Amino acid sequence: MLKLKSVQTFYGNIQALKGISLEVAEGEIITLIGANGAGKSTTLMTICGIIPPRSGDILFMGSSILNHNANEIVALGISQVPEGRHIFPYLSVSENLDMGAFLRKDKQEIKKDMEYIYELFPILAERRHQAGGTLSGGEQQMLAISRALMARPKLLLMDEPSLGLAPLILGQIFDIIKKINTENRTTIFLVEQNANQALKIAHRGYVMENGRITLSDSADKLLSNEEVKKAYLGI
Ligand code: ATP
Repeated sequence: MLKLKSVQTFYGNIQALKGISLEVAEGEIITLIGANGAGKSTTLMTICGIIPPRSGDILFMGSSILNHNANEIVALGISQVPEGRHIFPYLSVSENLDMGAFLRKDKQEIKKDMEYIYELFPILAERRHQAGGTLSGGEQQMLAISRALMARPKLLLMDEPSLGLAPLILGQIFDIIKKINTENRTTIFLVEQNANQALKIAHRGYVMENGRITLSDSADKLLSNEEVKKAYLGI
């Protein structure tokens, strides 16, 4: 579904991605793990057209998306749940969800999708008229995920959904990510610092260090890899 070929991305003279190649197949949950500053968020920003790469290629469903802007990339079927959620604090929960469906015209289907979201996250149904900014951190993360789902993505990019969440909520968020993948058949590319939880729900994973992919394997194998255990799992 998604293929990155030798992608290099720069911020001015600073090279953040030093030739990244990776693949995500339809139906997979793929996780990208790595330390602070490794280049994980830059990888997502590059895929969704916010920071175009200087060289390399990005293929989505077999075609290059390099010459598409961020809006066009959403329309093709890639949505991002950004790090830090970035919900619209003064809009209600239901208005935030409407914003996620901004590019869609199929009103009946939008209504159905909103009902599905409210089944997935009953707390959002309860709070549908409440301003987004008044929700707890966990609820805002649920809203950010839901808003991205309202675009009906084929591929969902998630940047550190567990960041700053209480342990109890964290488990719920990972359960929901798994459910979105299995029930809603959405392919997921998950960037996480919580490598342990991410690898437990993922099919495969990539390890990133200093702008490069240094390791890739099945999630099970990465979980039992001694280097990964020492560097990322705290074991
Ligand atoms: P984190 O987990 O802290 O978000 P990350 O793995 O997502 O880290 P990136 O945010 O992609 O890493 O950063 C990769 C590199 O690019 C780092 O060296 C960072 O300092 C640099 N960088 C990121 N954003 C910018 C920017 N706007 N301008 C200049 N350099 C940047």
